[in-house]
Amino acid sequence: MEASAETPSFVVALDGPAASGKGTLSRLIAGQYGFAHLDTGTLYRGVAWLILNEGKDPSDQDLAARIAGDYAVEKIAGADIRTREVGAAASVVAANSGVRAALLDFQRRYAKTPPGGLKGAVLDGRDIGTVVCPDADVKFFVTASAEIRAHRRWLELKLEQPDLEEARIYKDLLERDARDAAREDAPMARADDAELLDTTHLSIDAAFAAARRVIDGVFQRCGN
Ligand code: C5P
Repeated sequence: MEASAETPSFVVALDGPAASGKGTLSRLIAGQYGFAHLDTGTLYRGVAWLILNEGKDPSDQDLAARIAGDYAVEKIAGADIRTREVGAAASVVAANSGVRAALLDFQRRYAKTPPGGLKGAVLDGRDIGTVVCPDADVKFFVTASAEIRAHRRWLELKLEQPDLEEARIYKDLLERDARDAAREDAPMARADDAELLDTTHLSIDAAFAAARRVIDGVFQRCGN
């Protein structure tokens, strides 16, 4: 069944800091319920990559807003947007209100009318439950200690960059979290009605089971 005026799209919002596990959880939730999944961090990373690729400065506000306004996923096809440099530049462009405004509509449309006629969407980011989809059916705030998050991210990145030091990743994450939480426009925040999932001592299976219990409870209450 497609999302329509009679059966609006079921929206699951996951927010939280870098490497908290929200991306993995989002993919699992989308797979479980047959929903579309949008990792909204890729939009900010994509804009950052396009700027870095031109040898330009991500803190150039007008340039970043212009690039976000013309953004299309095809423009970053094949680009490696997962590096620490792109992550750091993404959090710089993400503090720019012109960039956020340019990317907002796309995210809201995706939630309301998921691609492929799917009946729901999972969006993960920093401001999904607070700004992009404040009326989401289910909201989670996924977090974990900075040490654990840095360790997870280091394990991922060192496959490509064996010389990368864990202490460097830890410092990057703290800087990025601080910038994301302190910015004026749509800071990273837990919505009042978001369930907290702390994955510091929780396996991904256990976190997924906890998320499913919450979602199934909402499904039952709305008679799905
Ligand atoms: O989630 P990921 O680490 O890929 O996000 C990269 C950066 O994009 C974040 O550090 C944050 O600055 C920005 N972002 C954001 N709002 C979102 C998603 C990501 O500001 N909804």
